[in-house]
Amino acid sequence: MAKINEKVPIHTILIYCSKCGTLLYKYQKEGLGMLVKCYVNRIVEDNTNGDLRCPKCNQEFARVATIHNRPAHKIIQGKVYTKGHCKK
Ligand SMILES: [Zn+2]
Repeated sequence: MAKINEKVPIHTILIYCSKCGTLLYKYQKEGLGMLVKCYVNRIVEDNTNGDLRCPKCNQEFARVATIHNRPAHKIIQGKVYTKGHCKK
């Protein structure tokens, strides 16, 4: 697992469509807490067609945004669920 900033723990999480359960992104999340956005350069695997919609059921799950001067996808709450970020 890549470590980009030593002070921030990086967790690889899986992001799924809440509607049909399709895997959308494999993503390296910074820190703990709820997923609100995906920085584009931290998406390690993209199973979508790049249009921020689920490739299977066509549900829109994110919107293009710029956060801290970095291109990002802002997650629409309730449209996805994640796995792998709540390890205790
Ligand atoms: Zn879907």
